[in-house]
Amino acid sequence: MDIDIQLIEQSKIDSVDFNNLNFGRTFSDHMFTCDFKNGEWTNPRITPYAPFTLEPSARVFHYGQAVFEGMKAYKDDNDDIFLFRPDENFDRINKSAERLAMPPVAEDVFFEGLKKLLHLEKKWIKKGLGNSLYLRPFIIATEGAIAASPAEEYKFMIICSPAQSYYGGDVRVIIAEKYSRSADGGVGYAKAAGNYAAQFYPTSLAHKEGYQQIIWTDASTHEYLEEAGTMNIFFRIGDKLITAPNNDRILDGVTRKSIIQLAKDNNIDIEVRRVTVSEIKDAARVGELKEIFGSGTAAVINPIKGFKHDKDSFELADQENSYARFFKEKLLNIQYNKSEDKHGWRVKI
Ligand SMILES: *Cc1c(COP(=O)(O)O)cnc(C)c1O
Repeated sequence: MDIDIQLIEQSKIDSVDFNNLNFGRTFSDHMFTCDFKNGEWTNPRITPYAPFTLEPSARVFHYGQAVFEGMKAYKDDNDDIFLFRPDENFDRINKSAERLAMPPVAEDVFFEGLKKLLHLEKKWIKKGLGNSLYLRPFIIATEGAIAASPAEEYKFMIICSPAQSYYGGDVRVIIAEKYSRSADGGVGYAKAAGNYAAQFYPTSLAHKEGYQQIIWTDASTHEYLEEAGTMNIFFRIGDKLITAPNNDRILDGVTRKSIIQLAKDNNIDIEVRRVTVSEIKDAARVGELKEIFGSGTAAVINPIKGFKHDKDSFELADQENSYARFFKEKLLNIQYNKSEDKHGWRVKI
């Protein structure tokens, strides 16, 4: 595949304070774009990161055909660059695209674009545990026409944002009793932009009550715990780790599936099954609920300190041997080429 490359005249890297990065606010010098026209992906190119124009009637603005991925590039002490299970992201963006009646991005477009871009942006990937270049591949419907049907033209793009290890402070959450982020037969399993939009308003109500996130429950009964904000969710009851099984309401997280595998590798009792709100509250009341944490690429693992449901609120005590810390360290060591990678998750670029 021939990628047309137009380099930036003057890198802006020297103006970036890599010790004070606000997640997702700074972008690297270049971006990758490929157009979908007449039934095929054409004109792959790398250009300076910059605004671009679209028709006001572009369907993405009206009917929300937009899907994305979140990945990271890591650098080890020898300046080698790695991705973590990128095949999973490739498969998932195409599952998401299929659900929104969008064309799948071609494998060479996705991977050649990603590799070429990363080689150009090497300097933007800083060494050190926690530093990474966050990668945001996405597909949007660009065809100008406000007919309510799938577009015939799209753009696949990749933009890059340098990130530091992310610590959002103590997280307390409300278990959803009214709102839902997804429903049976819906698009919850897709990384669709609209899923995030649907979540902002209920989350802002939670903020007003002093909670940072919402634990999403199943839309029909609100009895089963499914996701933590935009992360998958794990519970530790006694020494047993439990996470909800994937379904069409839950996003199939790469971090989640890696934790499940690491639990098996390390003889930690792991159950993938439905978890009820009452089970968690009962376990909390008798002191058996040791930990709750969310998992996702951006924060890796985000421990949850407390939760509220109905009129009850609970605080979780700090654990000396925390599973959250254990899995975070295991994952980081694999991602940063500091430990053995027996499943071949690390991919050198
Ligand atoms: C992206 C995402 C996750 C986490 O997926 P990872 O592959 O682990 O980053 C979990 N839930 C939702 C809703 C997401 O959008």
